[in-house]
Amino acid sequence: RAKAELDRHVCYYEQEMDEAARQRRAMGKDLWQAVENGDFHLVFQVQKSVTTDAVTGYEVLLRWDRPGHGMVPPSEFIPVAEECGAINAIGAWVLHHACREAATWPEPHKIAVNVSGLQLAQLELVDLVKMVLDESGLAPSRLELEVTETAIIADRKRALAVLNAIKALGVSIAIDDFGTGYSSLDTLRSFPFDKIKLDRSFMVEVGRDDQAKAIVRAILALGKSLSIPVLAEGVETVEQMDVLRAEGCTEAQGFLLGRPGRIDWTAMPGRLLMA
Ligand code: C2E
Ligand code: MG
Ligand code: MG
Ligand code: MG
Repeated sequence: RAKAELDRHVCYYEQEMDEAARQRRAMGKDLWQAVENGDFHLVFQVQKSVTTDAVTGYEVLLRWDRPGHGMVPPSEFIPVAEECGAINAIGAWVLHHACREAATWPEPHKIAVNVSGLQLAQLELVDLVKMVLDESGLAPSRLELEVTETAIIADRKRALAVLNAIKALGVSIAIDDFGTGYSSLDTLRSFPFDKIKLDRSFMVEVGRDDQAKAIVRAILALGKSLSIPVLAEGVETVEQMDVLRAEGCTEAQGFLLGRPGRIDWTAMPGRLLMA
């Protein structure tokens, strides 16, 4: 009887797995379609100096309006895009459109574009970046790529070669979500990062937990001693901003400063419209 019971559970589990796999396949198919149809759009989130409040740049965030489903968050569709191979086409779409749009801005702000680990593992990324800069006319100094630590560990040697070649073009590199996942201080030393983006999870705790504050302080000190500016992600409250200011953080990004959206350049200075 136990055997029958077990079989029933295994069967149920397999059905669940099949269903999840089927949904991922369907989403993968729709993603390829979206690349062809251009069902994507970009939103921008402001990054500001903690000390002067001046705009230091905008992070580019991808949005997908999936037909029949509505908006799907990138945390759901990026992993599927990586799995089904569409990530290269999507990543190229993002880079092209982000650079083309930023080149038309009345103010020469920097843009920070997220790059998937799979893109980073390919030398073609260097040619792609070269191409989009040429085509858009965007100054290389206005482009920053955001990479995560998990993206780097897949093939460290290759990632380092790709990032060095991209840096040689005059493009800067930020390490995203720093402090989460597979963090290694050696990565900071051996990779040519221009900015450390402190993961949002530390901000969440910073107001109410001394440990979190101590970690933030330690990472800020680390950035300082390596001469790498630190940007705090996910700043939502005035209290968090006060901590960052007191601890000497360089830049901040988060709902307190502005939600991701379209930039309204008719307002002076350019204001963010809600997406
Ligand atoms: P990320 O690069 O760490 O981007 C920051 C995410 O935090 C964004 O979510 C942003 O909307 C959100 N965020 C910003 N400030 C706050 C805040 O104060 N509070 C809270 N709760 N959230 C805040 P989003 O747009 O959903 O993107 C999620 C992730 O998807 C990104 O994390 C990035 O890893 C990935 N992603 C987004 N666009 C692209 C893209 O074009 N290419 C690739 N490869 N990945 C992308
Ligand atoms: Mg990012
Ligand atoms: Mg991030
Ligand atoms: Mg993050």
